[in-house]
Amino acid sequence: MNFNRQTSKKERTGDYMVELQNVSVTYAGGVDALNNVSLKINDGDFAFVVGSSGAGKSTMIKLLLKEIDATSGVVTVNNYNLSKLKKRRIPEFRRTLGFVFQDFRLIPSMTVYENIAFVLRVLDSPIKYIRKRVPYVISLVGLQQKTNSYPDELSGGEKQRVAIARALVNDPQLIIADEPTGNIDPELSYEIVELLKGINDQGTTILMVTHEHDLVRHFGGRIINITNGEVVYDEVIAGSGLDMLPEEELAQVMSNAAAETPQYDMPQGESSYYGDMNVDEIISTITASAPVTSEENGGAE
Ligand code: ADP
Repeated sequence: MNFNRQTSKKERTGDYMVELQNVSVTYAGGVDALNNVSLKINDGDFAFVVGSSGAGKSTMIKLLLKEIDATSGVVTVNNYNLSKLKKRRIPEFRRTLGFVFQDFRLIPSMTVYENIAFVLRVLDSPIKYIRKRVPYVISLVGLQQKTNSYPDELSGGEKQRVAIARALVNDPQLIIADEPTGNIDPELSYEIVELLKGINDQGTTILMVTHEHDLVRHFGGRIINITNGEVVYDEVIAGSGLDMLPEEELAQVMSNAAAETPQYDMPQGESSYYGDMNVDEIISTITASAPVTSEENGGAE
């Protein structure tokens, strides 16, 4: 079994990593969460997705992970046409992606090393590969000194770095980061984005949802603003380290990116969060790799 990419990132040029073609999502009850959205993200891009609460950002992320299906239109991610992807192939598809969430989703009873190695173990990677790969990704995020620490011995920024290492360990084509700086100190947010930028420099496509104006202003790059289910702005802007965008223009860009804290209920103690879950459920949560049920194995479709 080959644990490296089937095709190198270079070989993938010409394809879009993410493409939404006239995508609409209408929830039961008639809410139009996305309305005729078309969007292309190239292989190797770094894009910020901004927008106020209720704008449709989570709906877009759920579409990209195939947690939900579009009501109409076509969603393609990493060459998988999600509109046609069979249920039993969803785990395979999701393993080509990495995820970083606001709440870290580390397993409290596991060390940093184990939290990361766990993903490869579930994928039946050879032990030799795991022993090489895990320290490597830990070094990429600068946490060598914390290899044997448990999550509750880490700061928020360190926890998120572990989550990023975990997202990287399977060498994903695309990393989707959903408010990755939402639960960490503002000054450490920059480090997290720097880290994601560094990963992007190595060729991994990154889509990051954020509501933090300062980060977007600082880093610049591609900004996609979703408002009321529509893409109202999609441009590349310079970061403040370069030609800083005039304040009024930035205000306009971000006009609908809410300043409010995103709605999120922190679990009451992380251990109880995972306490009742089995291994399949845990891995499903942290990688969004839905456990393959016997029904799916049977090819119900
Ligand atoms: P955001 O992530 O930008 O805050 P969402 O994608 O969560 O926005 O929501 C977009 C719209 O869809 C909102 O009006 C929200 O209330 C609605 N919505 C989200 N999820 C559901 C659902 N499961 N059922 C019905 N309406 C939903």
